[in-house]
Amino acid sequence: MTTEKATYDAGAVEAARQEAWSRRGDFEAPAPAEGQPRAYVKPSSPFTSGNLHMGHVRDYAIGDAYARFRRARGDAVLFGFGFDAFGLPAELAAIERREPPAEWVGRSGERMLGQMRRLGFSFDYDRVFYSSDEGQYRWSQWLFLTLLEAGLIYRDDATVDWCDHCQTTLAALQVEDGRCWRCHNEVRLIRRPTWFLRIAPYLEENDRNLDGLEDWDELSLATQRYILGRTDGVELDLSGPEGRTLTVFTPHRGSVGEARFVLLSPRHPALERWVSEPGARAELDELRSGGWERSARDAAAVPVIDTGESVAGPAGDELPVFVSPLVDARYGPTAALGIPTADEADGAIGRRMPRTPDEPPARAPSSSAEPREAKRYRASDFSISRQRYWGTPIPIVHCERCGAVPVPFEELPVRLPRDIEPTGEGNPLAERPDFVDVACPRCGEPARRETDTLDCHFDALWLWIPAAVPPEDRAEKMFEHPDLRRWLPAERLVAGSDSGGFVFDQRVVTKALRDIGPLSFLEDGEPFAGCLFHEMVIAGGRKMSKHLGNVVDPDELVERHGADTVRLAVLYAAGPAKTLNWNDGAIRFARRFLLGLWDYSQKHFAAAEEAPVDAEAAADTEFLRERLGKWCANGIARITSDLEDLQMHRAVRDVTRLFERVQDFEKRVLERRGALSRDDAEALVAALALLARALAPLAPHLAEELLIASGREDGPDLLGPWPDATDVLLIGNNETKEPRVASLGPGE
Ligand SMILES: [Zn+2]
Ligand SMILES: [Zn+2]
Repeated sequence: MTTEKATYDAGAVEAARQEAWSRRGDFEAPAPAEGQPRAYVKPSSPFTSGNLHMGHVRDYAIGDAYARFRRARGDAVLFGFGFDAFGLPAELAAIERREPPAEWVGRSGERMLGQMRRLGFSFDYDRVFYSSDEGQYRWSQWLFLTLLEAGLIYRDDATVDWCDHCQTTLAALQVEDGRCWRCHNEVRLIRRPTWFLRIAPYLEENDRNLDGLEDWDELSLATQRYILGRTDGVELDLSGPEGRTLTVFTPHRGSVGEARFVLLSPRHPALERWVSEPGARAELDELRSGGWERSARDAAAVPVIDTGESVAGPAGDELPVFVSPLVDARYGPTAALGIPTADEADGAIGRRMPRTPDEPPARAPSSSAEPREAKRYRASDFSISRQRYWGTPIPIVHCERCGAVPVPFEELPVRLPRDIEPTGEGNPLAERPDFVDVACPRCGEPARRETDTLDCHFDALWLWIPAAVPPEDRAEKMFEHPDLRRWLPAERLVAGSDSGGFVFDQRVVTKALRDIGPLSFLEDGEPFAGCLFHEMVIAGGRKMSKHLGNVVDPDELVERHGADTVRLAVLYAAGPAKTLNWNDGAIRFARRFLLGLWDYSQKHFAAAEEAPVDAEAAADTEFLRERLGKWCANGIARITSDLEDLQMHRAVRDVTRLFERVQDFEKRVLERRGALSRDDAEALVAALALLARALAPLAPHLAEELLIASGREDGPDLLGPWPDATDVLLIGNNETKEPRVASLGPGE
């Protein structure tokens, strides 16, 4: 009886493998060799919240499996990220703990990195960065000034979403159902000076490129389409008084003759020319200064202002011009025809507004109102400044004489005081004379620094870039490093389905930086060649929350079951496009499989050398070994294709199926001969080693330990080249022990 190894000790095996990886620097992004395929696998950039949650585990388990697979294929892989460390969540956490956010962020990041290492994620940890680092936000300021120079950032006294509770403006992305994403209080629209990012110049290109993004999954493309909010229709130029014309849009091309009014967005560029009547002006000012609850979105409650003006409609009649934010929510900052017969919301507005004519006159349309093909995008410019402390200082000085003056590039960074303990009230930067009082860069007179900071959404616009630059070179040439050409575009972004907004705006800024110069080599202006979005992890059918007491703690799971089991369970439990409703079943499945494979493999590795050499028996079972070869070839072909598509749940399933087939081979040999001959035993060992290699991207610690036990030497080449389905090796079919190549295509 051979001695079987003790049952799998995940903690010990995982610690040993992680130590070996780190000692050898296995995951440092290499300089790609000439002609070597390369892949920058970009995981999501976590907030420094202090804790990995199951959504992170899902994200990184998928990305890690893909990165490991690409490395095993011989490709140069960069798998790196930075923390999204500025912003409200960190500031609020620091307020709660009465400490400077910088300290909270540093501690949280360290803790999360420890969790990632314990889970065995193969990041290039030397490349990790924090968006709140001075060397990092200096480049956020550079980006701000660069976009400002290009006319893509502007300051406007404009309507913004405002949360009374958080005392800050919010980006549209941060408003969910009219409520603050953070505190869920109702959001108001108010008017205040705010910095905006102009995205309109790139909306059409973002739209057009979608068809060419072949390695983007449906979920990620769907988010991009949703954010664009494209509506196809027609537009017409309508004549107003004093020679003014107004271009109006409608998706109801067949019903333009039935239009009864025109709706103008409060953000329409020519709005001022249409709202001159004092009563209407007053109403508009009230609307803009916050009289309107954001939640009053539907046509029955949404504010509508009668400008008193009219334009000549397509049917020749007079159409009253109203102003309403309803337009923005549907077609962006434009003007739209109100057609009650074609549109329910228009019907509701028409009934509310007394000046709406009942019937259109029976007159021929004027030639000036010839409809032409048009489209509108709901996506529009968004605010990037916040009245908050914990963010990138905006490199602007306000001078009474010169106005808003950019800080010269060579004076960057504008340093954020790091010793502030925010209380949650007001903006602490405004109360710091050492920050606020400066000389105007232009005239030298006393002036005031901008005390708004950039929303972390702005930092995120380029958060995918720094990992591609060696840390020691980032200070000098973040945006012109030659490695950018090597790694960009990122081969694959793996991120949660709630990252659509970030990705959309990153795509906009990439195009801007292409046109400005630094990213000119990205011809289509796309930061990500491929993209996989995954849904969230919930428990008991509900979003995890402390309040519901259904939070699953990854640390606890890893402590009890080991990292490989947790990773395999998360990958197996659902395909990326499905919400993962967590339950222990997945853990039990993963545990049973891994322990079964471990025990079975160890037993057969140990027994192989003692199996008797028996030529007659070997000849009798040759057809079974050949069948095993086919199964292996088919299995590897499937698993390879699963991994290429980042469909890791299928890869797990196909690995477990292959294991069943390997066991089935043994069973059939035993049924036929009663024992395994040396040839059979060695074929079995070869098949198990092959299985371990295929498993390595998914459960790397255990898989590598099995390979070592099978007789392979530990080292950087432990996994060997990725097995090719057409040359699956089977040992033991001839006396010279030469590997026998079974040439089998995936279809056989
Ligand atoms: Zn709030
Ligand atoms: Zn000045």
